[in-house]
Amino acid sequence: MDVREMRNEVLGVRVVKALESRNMEAYYVKTKEEALKKALELIPEGSSVSWGGTMSAQEIGLTKALHEGKYTVYDRETKETREEKEEIAHQALNCDFYLGSTNAITEDGVMINVDGNANRVAAFAYGPKNVLLIVGMNKVVKTEEDAMSRARNEAAPINAQRFGIDTPCVQNGTCFNCRKPECICCQILITRYSRVAKRTKVILVDENLGF
Ligand code: SF4
Repeated sequence: MDVREMRNEVLGVRVVKALESRNMEAYYVKTKEEALKKALELIPEGSSVSWGGTMSAQEIGLTKALHEGKYTVYDRETKETREEKEEIAHQALNCDFYLGSTNAITEDGVMINVDGNANRVAAFAYGPKNVLLIVGMNKVVKTEEDAMSRARNEAAPINAQRFGIDTPCVQNGTCFNCRKPECICCQILITRYSRVAKRTKVILVDENLGF
């Protein structure tokens, strides 16, 4: 094991313990392949599954595996019209497993997510029976202040670039607290405890995943 792996493992194990203390289920794995295997162990065949544009679940091959497996998949990318996509977003709120990642997570297990339409943070907060988050170690920061800064100044500007929208962060690279219609930070969710035991499940991966 190299020194970077050693450092990430001791940190990752601490984050897992912190998440468990917050009534969540959590695992630390080293590779994308292990993350995919663990995710598929957690999602029983026959489950209904949805997601909201998560890069991390795509990057470990999970969304593809679910499309190819014995699951009912609600994927808005398979739909053409705005109305059809909206319908999928509503179905997602009642599914068995909602997949995602997080914009940032503290080493004490607090997660921060920003959202424009808010379908993703709505599902994280309430609705789906389970929320399964695939989180690269690149998302782990020290404090809640650091997490908010990462979400606003790193994750959001990169996602804004991805969506090709016209916001100050696209022009300047960090957050300028905009009030534009295209803003992708209309709602900000802080997840600090799971009232339903193990509803939120986190697989931490020793890889750079998502933004
Ligand atoms: S400039 Fe607007 S869209 Fe960009 S990160 Fe800040 S609040 Fe979000």
